[in-house]
Amino acid sequence: MKFVNKVDQRLNCPICKKVFDEPWQTSCGHRFCWDCLELNSFRLDDPRCPIDGESISRQQSFRDK
Ligand SMILES: [Zn+2]
Ligand SMILES: [Zn+2]
Repeated sequence: MKFVNKVDQRLNCPICKKVFDEPWQTSCGHRFCWDCLELNSFRLDDPRCPIDGESISRQQSFRDK
């Protein structure tokens, strides 16, 4: 098994570090689990990507496969 950082980041949520069950992708292209997105961004008044601070919204996020 090869270790490739980019692949690891695609498969693990950067917030909780767990392997994705159902990854959601934000408009800025980052992936999180829904619970992490909800807790860390969407329930705030001004939701932002926890990684790069881009403005994000529920409407512009979609479930990744
Ligand atoms: Zn997570
Ligand atoms: Zn982002």
